[in-house]
Amino acid sequence: MDPTLPPSLLRGQKALIVGVANEASIATGCAQAFHQCGADLAITYQNDKARPHVMPVATAVGAEIVMPLDVTDEAQLDAVFDAIAQRWGKLDLLLHSIAFAPKADLQGGLLNSSAAGFAQAMDISCHSFLRLARRAVPLMRDGGTLFAMSYHGANKVVPNYNLMGPVKAALESACRYLAHELGPLGIRVHAISPGPIATRAASGLKEFDVLLAHAVAEAPLGQPVDILDVGMTCAHLASPLARHLTGSTHYIDGGLNIMA
Ligand code: NAD
Repeated sequence: MDPTLPPSLLRGQKALIVGVANEASIATGCAQAFHQCGADLAITYQNDKARPHVMPVATAVGAEIVMPLDVTDEAQLDAVFDAIAQRWGKLDLLLHSIAFAPKADLQGGLLNSSAAGFAQAMDISCHSFLRLARRAVPLMRDGGTLFAMSYHGANKVVPNYNLMGPVKAALESACRYLAHELGPLGIRVHAISPGPIATRAASGLKEFDVLLAHAVAEAPLGQPVDILDVGMTCAHLASPLARHLTGSTHYIDGGLNIMA
């Protein structure tokens, strides 16, 4: 049975969640946990095709703002933050849980990745976090918390992770540098590193089922990690209980990362 989340842990906090594709998304587990802890939510969907899969999630967590957002579209980025400023006048939490790489570049090995594919993966999976943060910071007048979803392949070689390894390494480094820049404003930045979870993005990796089975077999806790596990940790990190934590990468993987 899942633990009960404290309903007032994030009461009154305003959270923007970017990365819900459907009910299986890691961002969905975070939205559920933030909602159960009393936060008010804004949720975005990538495009019209995604909308019908995102709406049931947004409705279930009572999202007050639901808007389209492709992070390559500056006008949509501005529109989302204008809506937040108008409705809430502030923002406390921003969660970036998106990644993309063209299939041929993702599956063809790092050596063969194209300059255009690498740049696109870096733009959508890493620099977009900075674009979101730049707009979030002026609304975080009372401090706040930023989250970016990474993976162990950033630091160790995970077969088939290919060009996403260097991209996630850049994302984790960006979290550290942002933590340094934003610490004086009371804004904390966390890289979150979940173990393998079966999602739509994960299905783009070659032999993901092997990775998942290996994770369960090798992790000290011996259980698959689920999206609510990620959400519960993010809720804790967003709360005053974690007020002196920033800049680190937090593994939510049953201990898998400590294994040789
Ligand atoms: P998912 O497919 O549910 O989510 C990926 C999201 O990225 C989708 O919502 C998609 O709309 C969004 N996205 C892609 N391009 C976009 C764009 N241009 N503009 C806006 N949104 C865009 O898969 P997920 O596994 O929940 O992935 C979320 C994050 O978690 C990713 O950063 C992924 O690398 C990371 N992660 C996943 C796992 C795993 O095993 N599933 C493990 C560690 C880290």
